[in-house]
Amino acid sequence: MPDDDSGEPSGGSDYGMATNLSGETARVSALVGLSGLVEAGTLLEATPECLVIAGADGQIVFANHRVEELTGFRRDELIGHPLSVLLTSGLGAVEDSRFEGTCRRSSGETFPVEVHLGSIDAPEHLAVVTLRDMTELQAGRDAKFEAEAKYRALVDELPAVVYLDPVDENLDSIYVSPQVTTLIGITPDEWLTDPYAWRHHVHPEDIDRVWDEYVLAYNEHSTLNHEYRMVHEDGSVKWVLEQASTITDEHGEPWLIQGVIFDISERKKAEEQIAFLAYHDKLTGLPNRALFEEMLELAIARGRRHELGVGVVFLDLDNFKLVNDSLGHAAGDELLIQLADRLRGCTRETDLVARQGGDEFLLLLSDMERGSSALPGVDSALMVAESVVIRVHEALQEPFHLNGTEFFATASLGVSLFPQDASDGGTLLKNADAAMYQSKKRRPGGHVVFSGAGEDPLQKLSLTTRLRRAVELQHWVLHYQPIVNLSDGSMKGVEALVRWREPNGGLVPPGEFIPLAEELGLIDAIGEWVIEEFSMQDRLWRQQGLDLQISFNLSPRQLRSAQLSEKIISKLRDAGVESRNVVVELTESAAMADPDHTQQILAELHAWGLTLAIDDFGTGYSSLARLKHMPVDILKIDRVFIRDVDTDSDLSGMVRAMIQLADSLGMTPLAEGIETQGEYEFVKANGCKLAQGFLFSRPVPAAEIPALAARPLIAG
Ligand code: C2E
Ligand code: CA
Ligand code: CA
Repeated sequence: MPDDDSGEPSGGSDYGMATNLSGETARVSALVGLSGLVEAGTLLEATPECLVIAGADGQIVFANHRVEELTGFRRDELIGHPLSVLLTSGLGAVEDSRFEGTCRRSSGETFPVEVHLGSIDAPEHLAVVTLRDMTELQAGRDAKFEAEAKYRALVDELPAVVYLDPVDENLDSIYVSPQVTTLIGITPDEWLTDPYAWRHHVHPEDIDRVWDEYVLAYNEHSTLNHEYRMVHEDGSVKWVLEQASTITDEHGEPWLIQGVIFDISERKKAEEQIAFLAYHDKLTGLPNRALFEEMLELAIARGRRHELGVGVVFLDLDNFKLVNDSLGHAAGDELLIQLADRLRGCTRETDLVARQGGDEFLLLLSDMERGSSALPGVDSALMVAESVVIRVHEALQEPFHLNGTEFFATASLGVSLFPQDASDGGTLLKNADAAMYQSKKRRPGGHVVFSGAGEDPLQKLSLTTRLRRAVELQHWVLHYQPIVNLSDGSMKGVEALVRWREPNGGLVPPGEFIPLAEELGLIDAIGEWVIEEFSMQDRLWRQQGLDLQISFNLSPRQLRSAQLSEKIISKLRDAGVESRNVVVELTESAAMADPDHTQQILAELHAWGLTLAIDDFGTGYSSLARLKHMPVDILKIDRVFIRDVDTDSDLSGMVRAMIQLADSLGMTPLAEGIETQGEYEFVKANGCKLAQGFLFSRPVPAAEIPALAARPLIAG
């Protein structure tokens, strides 16, 4: 029995139960509703009331022992006979009512009774008739207490806790059956003297709901009938079913509240097992779509109440059919099982991973904070969703082992968020599905589309956040731009240029993130990845018979990293790359910022056989004296001088001078940014040895290099 410490409603009892519902009717329907748990008859017998139940046709289907006592009829003389055997007058009222009538005893004599007529609609229409001997009523409450004593004797035997409380909150609790000790481990006395005994044994997760239900029953004057968990003194959790209703006194005033609490733990356990089977996918053991939808509804309800965000991620494998077709269905099943495991591993504990069916999976991200995260302007729910998506992609980086073969799976994902994209579960699911479909269409494999606003919400994340994550997950790609021998148009080598691949599949050019990466101290990590990546590429190209020099860029900040040259050299050596095939590019301004230090590093790298290039030459303020003492092999003339060099006489003069300067210092000149035939012809005619530019080729993925290297990049 809840104690109203919330202060509402105050309606008469210390637990706020309905006080003016139609007592008998409600009680009987409550009791009849118990069938299946205990024999309904047991409880109907337990009541001190004189009770008759008739079917829709007016035939008596039940009469309790009190009827026998009152009328002298044996039950078998009543059951199957019309109600009129008992009631000689007053019948005919169809609706629930209370009236005075005449009752017949088996001896034939009649006596006045008060009749309560109630009805129960389910499972079939039943009339519930309670009879009260008017003479008995005159004896006052004493009779009631006598009846109560019998009632007590009976309920003590019930496999349930029965309690009886006065409606008047000032009176002590009247009775609780000794079974309370089995249920929650306290004595009846403790129950009767501690007004909080009940509340303290209701499971903390259930108390709010249970209390709401009490309040509802009170407000709607209905019988209480609910299930919740109680916690035994020993800590064990019991599921209970509680039913309660009011009993009115002879004036029709609410008098007592009686309730029954059944231990239904066993039934719950069975139900849970059945529910598990109905709500889970047999193959993977994951929740199925039905359970997902229910959890989604709950998550949205919580999200609404506590202003939290909810996300739905729809995942579809891109190449599942291939597995089934080539490796067989058993391998397909195995893939799904392994995938389910990985998905479980990359979500938060509170998230739900479900199998939608086939090769489609659903992730439910609930209870996410809304609004901006610690980083201003970054939606925190979006950030959580994005990091889950990135973890999913990461989880797919490793091959699956099926039938002794390795298989790489890719997936397309769609994300939809509550409240920004949809306000209900159905729409959220639909949006996530549509977004997944979009992403598959755009480019299957590691692609994500967020539903909503059209514009990619990833753009809303701050660059800083995205970049940090990219570093963690190495979301980098190298493109290679050919460097051309001007003498014959052949490919001398390539420059490795980094790009950042965002989770949405877009490539970010280095100009947009290298400066920030330097500022955040992330450049070293990127630089290391670049070396590992092109080293691996070098090996592959050599296996294909391609002999190319690979240039890579060092940023000014990297020069400050301790033991830079050792690190570079050991990485190259570990990868088996010959140092003479590697060119280190350093911008002129970087080289001149701390020339002593730079000179030392360049000397070390040079000693290991690496080729050195000064990048963007002409844009910094070189001290020629310094440059002369640096072991530089290549001078890359910046593209600001090359643009229109063939038509602009100032530029022609400068570029000619730079080519001569390089020659005089023993360096090979390289013209960057050749875009036109005129620019190409000018630099070639003026003795430049090497060139690079869109005219020959843009930077391209590694896979395109072999074809480009097969023939001259430029005619003549
Ligand atoms: P950079 O070293 O001067 O690289 C050449 C840049 O010029 C590349 O831009 C390339 O796409 C562009 N380019 C080449 N030919 C032409 C042309 O004919 N016309 C025009 N307009 N542009 C041309 P990208 O790839 O955007 O690289 C920009 C800069 O980012 C690079 O300039 C380099 O300083 C830096 N960077 C690139 N990769 C790395 C890296 O791995 N590490 C470091 N630290 N910096 C890098
Ligand atoms: Ca460069
Ligand atoms: Ca350059």
